[in-house]
Amino acid sequence: MNSNPPLTNVQARDLDAILHPYTPLHTLPQTGATVIDHGKGVYVYDTQGNEYIEGMSGLWCAGLGFGNEEMVEAATQQMRSLPYYHLFGGMGIEPAIELAEKLKELAPVPISKVFFTSSGSEANDTQVKLAWYYNNARGKPEKKKIISRIKAYHGVTIMSASLTGLPYNHKGFDLPIDRVVHTECPHYYRFGQDGESEADFVTRLATSLRELIEREGPDTIAAMIAEPVMGAGGVIVPPKGYFEAIQPILDEYDIYLIDDEVINGFGRTGNWWGSETLGMTPKTISAAKQLTSAYAPLGAVMLPEDIYQAFVDHSRQIGTFGHGFTYGGHPLGCALGVKAIEIYQKLDILSHVRSLIPVFEARMKKIADHPIVGEARYCGLMGGVELVADKATKQPFDASVGIGPKAATLARQNGAIFRAIGDTLAVCPPMIITAEELNALFDRMEKALDDTEFLAKKDNLR
Ligand code: PMP
Repeated sequence: MNSNPPLTNVQARDLDAILHPYTPLHTLPQTGATVIDHGKGVYVYDTQGNEYIEGMSGLWCAGLGFGNEEMVEAATQQMRSLPYYHLFGGMGIEPAIELAEKLKELAPVPISKVFFTSSGSEANDTQVKLAWYYNNARGKPEKKKIISRIKAYHGVTIMSASLTGLPYNHKGFDLPIDRVVHTECPHYYRFGQDGESEADFVTRLATSLRELIEREGPDTIAAMIAEPVMGAGGVIVPPKGYFEAIQPILDEYDIYLIDDEVINGFGRTGNWWGSETLGMTPKTISAAKQLTSAYAPLGAVMLPEDIYQAFVDHSRQIGTFGHGFTYGGHPLGCALGVKAIEIYQKLDILSHVRSLIPVFEARMKKIADHPIVGEARYCGLMGGVELVADKATKQPFDASVGIGPKAATLARQNGAIFRAIGDTLAVCPPMIITAEELNALFDRMEKALDDTEFLAKKDNLR
């Protein structure tokens, strides 16, 4: 029996017309969509007038929150002067040049060129094509496989979904495709063995990576892709020394490291780049999301000079560099990228984020003690709260219970939006949030956890 209230008119229209991404399509008709109407600061409001603290910055992206007038003004000016142009065939536009210059300045490693896309998936898809192109250019045509990790999230195009290491992105889609291999996930709480220290866990993962490379053949592997902190796989923060342990192995086999900064980039971890926080030294970088604070779609791939020079040499032999998207480097996205970075710098967003980290940490530590929380993990202003049926044994709830989505729904009823990644509630608020708003967000999360525990007991969910 459906105990949910009847759908509103707008919910009925939504159900009638929209194929919702990442949604259990079979249960949506009972609940209907939460249709968001407008937003201001860290708050969004649905069509029924309910207010929510947006605890996820939308999809980890609206770092400046909602309704930023300077962004609106920059968008308006760009739309008036040049709503569209492209970079194909040697054409150029100033907002793209300016943004590429800014990215080169901010980059954590020497970057020579920036290639623009419209999304994170396109950026990672491009990374793979460029790795192939690069190895063809330098006479190593066998070196093509990409290593990714179990629970990684790198997007949903055919290749980026193949890089992604989550079952629901593969199941039913005939993925992953060839040329992608997954190594172990650096999640100590879930994958550390009985009696194994964090340091031993890191050593085991490094050994396992080496074995994978040797099994596949080092001459067949081009690159490894990794997020500093894994976001959409459940906010997984690798243990200390993880990247320091795996990078020398990659170097030894001439496998370069692609840094996926789509979530981590632009201050989220307290530095411009997650790689700086996590001790990672990448060769190339993917960015999107907070690049424009999500005020317009934009992605970027950042490349060093030696890769670029190999492309130039290759172009001499085979002709045009045949890759590019109609909207890659769209003037609106680039103008908003320039403005977002300008605002981050003006607000000194890194200092602001760092000033909030102790509050975030204190609240997460308290949440870790909640009876249905197995682990509350965090880095900078992003966290994951993993719900378990038994705290002592780490026993998860039965998957059919869907405790994560239930908790996210209860949180919405308490005025806070989090994202359920399986049974982990992700939290990643706009970086402009104040300490008071952050405390209010965590108050609502605690209330939702209490409500979830109550529900689990009442309905005997295990
Ligand atoms: N990489 C990472 C790390 C991401 O989190 C995401 C999106 N959540 C993507 C890539 C894909 O980006 P998009 O959804 O813009 O294609």
